[in-house]
Amino acid sequence: LDTIRSTFVSSVGEYVNEFERKIAKYTGAKFAVATVNGTSALHTALLLSGVKEGDEVITQLLTFVATCNAIKYCGAEPVFVDISLKTLGMSPESLKEFLDKNAEERNGYAYNKITGRRIKACVPMHTFGHPVEIDKIIEICSEYNIDVIEDAAESLGSFYKNKHTGTFGKFGVLSFNGNKIITTGGGGMILTNDEELAKKAKHITTTAKVPHPYEYFHDEIGYNYRMPNINAALGVAQLEQLENFLKIKRKIAQEYKIFFDKKGINFFTEPENSYSNYWLNAVILDNKKQRDEFLEITNKNGIQTRPVWTLMYKLPMYKNCFKTDTPNAEYIEERVVNIPSGVIYE
Ligand SMILES: *Cc1c(COP(=O)(O)O)cnc(C)c1O
Repeated sequence: LDTIRSTFVSSVGEYVNEFERKIAKYTGAKFAVATVNGTSALHTALLLSGVKEGDEVITQLLTFVATCNAIKYCGAEPVFVDISLKTLGMSPESLKEFLDKNAEERNGYAYNKITGRRIKACVPMHTFGHPVEIDKIIEICSEYNIDVIEDAAESLGSFYKNKHTGTFGKFGVLSFNGNKIITTGGGGMILTNDEELAKKAKHITTTAKVPHPYEYFHDEIGYNYRMPNINAALGVAQLEQLENFLKIKRKIAQEYKIFFDKKGINFFTEPENSYSNYWLNAVILDNKKQRDEFLEITNKNGIQTRPVWTLMYKLPMYKNCFKTDTPNAEYIEERVVNIPSGVIYE
């Protein structure tokens, strides 16, 4: 109501600043820049990491399609490594194996010996809100001068070794889409500890307009990626609920765990060294046949369950991308079912 009464519903207004400040404080990131959605936040972070047309960006085979689309928007090519069965996110072992086998140094950058392309960045994703082993991933990438951008779209409220996900890499990215842990209708956030990069992020997401009371001067091709004030106001209100949402989500996960243990079914729980928001709950069944039966029986009885995302290389636009052997991703794709994960109000 405040934003409507003030008439500042759109791309200027105090709630954007307030939401950014509050997210920075909550996550421990030095800077936070609000965007129109998580995908645009990823796109901006990749651009500001210097990803150029023809570069390669490493990511994981099991992710939501937006991760790969953002790489493509830069004219770069995704390269897929495997996931870890411990975290369901990027496997540091698979990443290291890929780089040790295929990367060579040329004037300070890593190049893929087989494709001849420069490997500029790496985008691990904290799957279903469970933190990846981000410290190991950053250590491996730093040996090869590869920037790490964390796709933390699903992991607001998730911590690795007591530090918020999305604050380890050069950039982290959050989403506030309707299905995420808190929502602004649609929205995203870029996290970084680098003041210069935060300023650039704000600049190119606001059409690269040079601040001036009345003149319209834009000094490069920018994007209209800024979060509207009315959405930011929703975000500020939603943040007041975050602790409560997390408490309920973790309680639901605990109850699922007890239930599925009794049934002898593997319910996926937070990895070592992690505190997870349990954004999307998952069970790992014994085989594809059991998975299909589980999907059919639950859906027939009015309980919405669904298989995990189709692996990226099985989508038509990513079928020719470079990939390593990915047995874990194949294993998980055949067995995982996501189960209801909404927040129940008490
Ligand atoms: C939701 C999501 C995104 C994209 O966020 P939007 O706000 O929907 O653009 C990106 N990556 C992952 C892993 C997501 O789950």
